[in-house]
Amino acid sequence: MKIGVPKEIKNNESRVGMTPAGVFELTKNDHTVYVQSTAGEGSGFFDSDYKKAGAIILNTIGQVYAMSEMIVKVKEPIEEEYELIQKDQVVFTYFHFASSEPLTRAMIKSKSVCIAYETVEDEDGTLPLLTPMSEVAGRMAIQQGAKYLEKPVKGRGVLLGGVPGVQPGKVLVLGAGVVGIQAAKMAAGLGAHVTIMDINMNRLRYVNDVLPPHVVTEFSNEFNIRKHIKTHDLIIGGVLLKGAKAPNLITKDMLKEMRPGTVIVDVAVDQGGCVETTRPTTHENPVYIIDDVVHYSVANMPGAVPYTSTMALTNVTLPYVLKLAHMGWEEACATDAALNKGLNITAGKVMYKEIVEAFGWEA
Ligand code: NAD
Repeated sequence: MKIGVPKEIKNNESRVGMTPAGVFELTKNDHTVYVQSTAGEGSGFFDSDYKKAGAIILNTIGQVYAMSEMIVKVKEPIEEEYELIQKDQVVFTYFHFASSEPLTRAMIKSKSVCIAYETVEDEDGTLPLLTPMSEVAGRMAIQQGAKYLEKPVKGRGVLLGGVPGVQPGKVLVLGAGVVGIQAAKMAAGLGAHVTIMDINMNRLRYVNDVLPPHVVTEFSNEFNIRKHIKTHDLIIGGVLLKGAKAPNLITKDMLKEMRPGTVIVDVAVDQGGCVETTRPTTHENPVYIIDDVVHYSVANMPGAVPYTSTMALTNVTLPYVLKLAHMGWEEACATDAALNKGLNITAGKVMYKEIVEAFGWEA
């Protein structure tokens, strides 16, 4: 199959859909891979690396789309790309269709085959192509939180790990899912005292089994959250109610009960946030302060570490890319239930009922 890897043109996106290692696997198996010149530079991969791995470098995005049967990328196509996508071309990427009617209409019109990373779903309900980005965001949450706890950026002036003779900082993690566990693990590694809360007892049992004893679990309810926000230095929001807006576990009035310089990193910002005062921010301007509490709520945290994020993403997408390339999309989806769930639009028809519902269209 002819596979194309265009350069991402969405603002501030430095990730790329395939690493040289992915190109190597595909070309070794007699597929042809076209990579747009400089597509990987933001992630630390150069044209020479791709060439060595067997790719053919093309100068323009138009050439990549025109010559490929399947496009592998990261972000949803933006308007300039709509016209480049062809009938029957497979596009394998994050789409998030339910949040954009113009994108959905454009892909219906293109009659392409849209397979969305975010809806590929394993039997147990986990989303294997979203998990690595939550892992990145969870780990990064502590790195960012530690930084904003410093006094010059209006934090409490607390070193999370403490020093001999001085108590370590205290981290409260809301949600013991992928983000929460990674955050708790990082904070524990720094030597902080960690409290992690969830409403799912199985998650708390798991944390209790695998994380060190200075990570303490507690059931999540308003009473317990109100108790802990008074004494914790850094609060991580990592809750998710699948397909719904995140619940407001911290309301505006609760900010007054926190000590000045407390930092909130609300990773759940992309689902509306689990803090009432959360609003999306960017890497250029990541924080704002309300009632002396520092809020960090960047909606695309993995974008700041494109090297790690590209590697983490392509590790999990490559097996599906190989399957699609070997079998063609119809056989690949027919024989792989998880991949089949990723099929969102084909031949001008929406295959995913949640998208139809999101726009109130007739089924
Ligand atoms: P997950 O499903 O693995 O975990 C969510 C956890 O929240 C679950 O264990 C669930 O039981 C728990 N939960 C639900 N209601 C709760 C409550 N009232 N109190 C405490 N816990 C509760 O999800 P995840 O992969 O960890 O993702 C968490 C959020 O982070 C999602 O909104 C995701 O989209 C977001 N995210 C954001 C970024 C970013 O860049 N900002 C990156 C990756 C993921």
